[in-house]
Amino acid sequence: MASSNGEITAKTEIVGLGILVAVIGFFIASAGMYQNIFGVVILTSLGWIGVALVFFGVAILVIGLILKDTDLAPDQTPSPIPPQQIGYVCPQCKTPVMLDYMSCPNCGLLLKKKCPGCGQIVPYEWRVCAYCNTKLPAHKINKG
Ligand SMILES: [Zn+2]
Ligand SMILES: [Zn+2]
Repeated sequence: MASSNGEITAKTEIVGLGILVAVIGFFIASAGMYQNIFGVVILTSLGWIGVALVFFGVAILVIGLILKDTDLAPDQTPSPIPPQQIGYVCPQCKTPVMLDYMSCPNCGLLLKKKCPGCGQIVPYEWRVCAYCNTKLPAHKINKG
Protein backbone atom coordinates (compact mmCIF):
# COMPACT_ATOMS: atom_id res chain seq x y z
CA MET A 1 0.00 0.00 0.00
CA ALA A 2 3.03 2.27 0.38
CA SER A 3 3.37 2.66 -3.40
CA SER A 4 -0.29 3.65 -3.90
CA ASN A 5 0.04 6.23 -1.11
CA GLY A 6 3.06 7.64 -2.95
CA GLU A 7 1.03 7.90 -6.17
CA ILE A 8 -1.77 9.77 -4.40
CA THR A 9 0.79 12.21 -2.98
CA ALA A 10 2.27 12.68 -6.48
CA LYS A 11 -1.21 13.38 -7.89
CA THR A 12 -1.92 15.88 -5.11
CA GLU A 13 1.33 17.57 -6.12
CA ILE A 14 0.14 17.65 -9.77
CA VAL A 15 -3.06 19.41 -8.64
CA GLY A 16 -1.01 21.81 -6.51
CA LEU A 17 1.34 22.50 -9.45
CA GLY A 18 -1.67 23.21 -11.67
CA ILE A 19 -3.04 25.74 -9.16
CA LEU A 20 0.42 27.34 -8.82
CA VAL A 21 0.89 27.66 -12.61
CA ALA A 22 -2.65 29.09 -13.00
CA VAL A 23 -2.06 31.67 -10.21
CA ILE A 24 1.34 32.70 -11.67
CA GLY A 25 -0.31 32.94 -15.11
CA PHE A 26 -3.07 35.12 -13.65
CA PHE A 27 -0.55 37.57 -12.15
CA ILE A 28 1.48 37.68 -15.41
CA ALA A 29 -1.73 38.24 -17.39
CA SER A 30 -2.90 41.04 -15.08
CA ALA A 31 0.56 42.67 -15.34
CA GLY A 32 0.53 42.28 -19.13
CA MET A 33 -2.87 43.82 -19.79
CA TYR A 34 -3.99 47.42 -19.83
CA GLN A 35 -7.06 49.41 -20.76
CA ASN A 36 -6.75 51.75 -23.73
CA ILE A 37 -8.46 55.16 -23.86
CA PHE A 38 -11.74 53.53 -24.96
CA GLY A 39 -11.72 51.31 -21.85
CA VAL A 40 -11.03 48.17 -23.87
CA VAL A 41 -8.70 45.64 -22.25
CA ILE A 42 -5.62 45.10 -24.40
CA LEU A 43 -3.30 42.16 -23.83
CA THR A 44 0.39 42.62 -24.49
CA SER A 45 2.48 39.63 -25.54
CA LEU A 46 3.30 39.19 -21.82
CA GLY A 47 -0.43 39.19 -21.09
CA TRP A 48 -1.02 36.45 -23.66
CA ILE A 49 1.76 34.37 -22.07
CA GLY A 50 -0.04 34.83 -18.74
CA VAL A 51 -3.40 33.74 -20.22
CA ALA A 52 -1.73 30.70 -21.79
CA LEU A 53 -0.19 29.84 -18.41
CA VAL A 54 -3.64 30.07 -16.74
CA PHE A 55 -5.09 27.59 -19.27
CA PHE A 56 -2.01 25.37 -18.91
CA GLY A 57 -2.33 25.41 -15.11
CA VAL A 58 -6.06 24.57 -15.25
CA ALA A 59 -5.29 21.70 -17.66
CA ILE A 60 -2.68 20.29 -15.21
CA LEU A 61 -5.18 20.71 -12.36
CA VAL A 62 -7.91 18.82 -14.27
CA ILE A 63 -5.49 16.03 -15.26
CA GLY A 64 -4.39 15.72 -11.63
CA LEU A 65 -8.01 15.49 -10.44
CA ILE A 66 -8.94 12.88 -13.08
CA LEU A 67 -5.88 10.75 -12.19
CA LYS A 68 -6.81 10.90 -8.51
CA ASP A 69 -10.42 9.83 -9.16
CA THR A 70 -9.52 6.85 -11.34
CA ASP A 71 -6.88 5.72 -8.83
CA LEU A 72 -9.08 5.94 -5.73
CA ALA A 73 -12.03 4.01 -7.21
CA PRO A 74 -10.50 0.48 -7.25
CA ASP A 75 -9.19 0.88 -3.69
CA GLN A 76 -12.71 0.56 -2.31
CA THR A 77 -13.53 -2.77 -4.04
CA PRO A 78 -11.52 -5.42 -2.12
CA SER A 79 -13.56 -6.94 0.70
CA PRO A 80 -11.94 -10.05 2.18
CA ILE A 81 -14.23 -12.87 3.32
CA PRO A 82 -14.64 -12.59 7.10
CA PRO A 83 -12.51 -15.36 8.67
CA GLN A 84 -15.26 -16.34 11.12
CA GLN A 85 -17.39 -17.63 8.20
CA ILE A 86 -14.85 -20.28 7.15
CA GLY A 87 -14.72 -23.84 8.44
CA TYR A 88 -16.35 -23.60 11.88
CA VAL A 89 -18.86 -26.27 12.82
CA CYS A 90 -20.51 -27.18 16.10
CA PRO A 91 -18.38 -29.97 17.66
CA GLN A 92 -21.54 -31.78 18.76
CA CYS A 93 -23.97 -31.63 15.82
CA LYS A 94 -21.64 -30.32 13.05
CA THR A 95 -23.93 -27.39 12.21
CA PRO A 96 -21.91 -24.55 10.59
CA VAL A 97 -21.48 -21.79 13.15
CA MET A 98 -19.88 -18.36 13.24
CA LEU A 99 -16.75 -17.82 15.33
CA ASP A 100 -18.52 -15.18 17.41
CA TYR A 101 -21.55 -17.40 18.23
CA MET A 102 -21.93 -17.97 21.96
CA SER A 103 -23.80 -21.25 21.46
CA CYS A 104 -24.84 -23.56 18.64
CA PRO A 105 -28.15 -22.40 17.11
CA ASN A 106 -29.12 -26.03 16.43
CA CYS A 107 -28.29 -28.00 19.59
CA GLY A 108 -27.58 -25.24 22.08
CA LEU A 109 -24.03 -26.39 22.87
CA LEU A 110 -21.91 -23.64 24.39
CA LEU A 111 -19.26 -22.66 21.82
CA LYS A 112 -17.34 -20.36 24.16
CA LYS A 113 -15.64 -20.95 27.46
CA LYS A 114 -14.43 -18.65 30.16
CA CYS A 115 -10.70 -18.55 30.78
CA PRO A 116 -10.04 -19.38 34.47
CA GLY A 117 -6.93 -17.20 34.38
CA CYS A 118 -8.24 -13.86 33.10
CA GLY A 119 -11.98 -14.34 32.69
CA GLN A 120 -11.96 -13.71 28.93
CA ILE A 121 -14.64 -15.49 26.88
CA VAL A 122 -12.62 -17.54 24.37
CA PRO A 123 -13.49 -19.99 21.53
CA TYR A 124 -14.15 -23.60 22.54
CA GLU A 125 -11.22 -25.00 20.56
CA TRP A 126 -8.55 -22.96 22.36
CA ARG A 127 -6.19 -25.08 24.46
CA VAL A 128 -4.25 -22.12 25.81
CA CYS A 129 -5.68 -18.65 26.49
CA ALA A 130 -4.13 -16.20 24.05
CA TYR A 131 -4.80 -13.32 26.45
CA CYS A 132 -3.02 -14.62 29.55
CA ASN A 133 -1.30 -17.89 28.46
CA THR A 134 -3.29 -19.99 30.93
CA LYS A 135 -3.78 -23.65 29.98
CA LEU A 136 -7.48 -24.18 29.31
CA PRO A 137 -9.55 -27.29 30.17
CA ALA A 138 -10.73 -29.41 27.25
CA HIS A 139 -14.14 -28.49 25.95
CA LYS A 140 -16.80 -30.85 27.32
CA ILE A 141 -19.32 -31.97 24.72
CA ASN A 142 -22.66 -32.51 26.38
CA LYS A 143 -23.81 -35.90 25.11
CA GLY A 144 -27.48 -36.73 25.67
ZN1 LIG B 1 -24.73 -28.00 17.68
ZN1 LIG C 1 -6.88 -15.93 29.96
